[in-house]
Amino acid sequence: MNLCDANTVKRLMSKYSTGTKKGFGQNFLINEDIPYNIANESFSYHKEKNKGEKSAVIEIGPGIGSLTQELCRLYDKVIAVEIDKTLIPILDETLQEFDNVSVINEDFLKLDLDEFLEKNLGECLISVCANLPYYITTPIIMALLENARKENGASKLTSITVMVQKEVALRLCADSKSSDYGAITASINYYGVAKKLFDVTPDNFLPPPKVTSSVVRIELYDEPKYKVQSEKMLFKVIAGAFSQRRKTLLNSLSSSFGEFSKEQIGGVIERLGFDINIRGERLSISDFCRIADEFTKELKK
Ligand code: SAM
Repeated sequence: MNLCDANTVKRLMSKYSTGTKKGFGQNFLINEDIPYNIANESFSYHKEKNKGEKSAVIEIGPGIGSLTQELCRLYDKVIAVEIDKTLIPILDETLQEFDNVSVINEDFLKLDLDEFLEKNLGECLISVCANLPYYITTPIIMALLENARKENGASKLTSITVMVQKEVALRLCADSKSSDYGAITASINYYGVAKKLFDVTPDNFLPPPKVTSSVVRIELYDEPKYKVQSEKMLFKVIAGAFSQRRKTLLNSLSSSFGEFSKEQIGGVIERLGFDINIRGERLSISDFCRIADEFTKELKK
């Protein structure tokens, strides 16, 4: 059965008395080349990193299973997390030929990701691959990044290959100093490198979304590249720096850090050699780490 044939999608939906739900961001792929290419982009990087462990992939939102099938053909183990319970009997049918897949009917954002990875994929090398529901792209990526590291700093995840709206993809992959650079870009840069792979136009989906999509692969560093005393402080600095984009770094951070006076924050900015009128988008991830370490020191004074 070709799961990327629009009539097959409609027939399966009607057979199980369900339909596509906008509220869950359901836009199903109807061009079989696309799930094939996404799965291969995910696996080719995974293979490079694999030192003989079992290979595993987590898919968020399998829908009716088109990308899942491709992942099952490549990885030893596939865990697919789908929020919509009406799709579970469809997935039982479309994935019946594979014995290396488990489908979990859950809201991905409500999973205890640490416990989930430990319980399901203990000894495996793990990647994430998904055609993400667009309404929760950023929280999903942030949840993955925040859980990407073990206590010793080594990465639990190899890469995150996702389809997102093109404008979001540009933000994920932006260079510092560009207008697309923001809090999510800086956060990604702390954990790894994001690469935009290819665009997918709306006519490749049922129903077609209003915008073009892009596939991005976030390749995670095996070991932390940047050292920072407190990651919590780092992410507070990043969030603060971009909280009011039109303001200077000094004013944005002053609004977010009530525990410091404006003079203290100005002192840190100047001590690190930045112009006092600099804006957050001019700073690289290593600049943010230096500011976070100075703030941590200030707190101890
Ligand atoms: N993978 C399929 C494809 O490429 O054709 C479907 C992708 S569709 C854009 C997004 C999928 O994510 C839908 O199946 C939707 O029900 C599911 N989804 C939405 N929110 C979710 C959540 N919080 N947790 C898990 N799955 C979710």
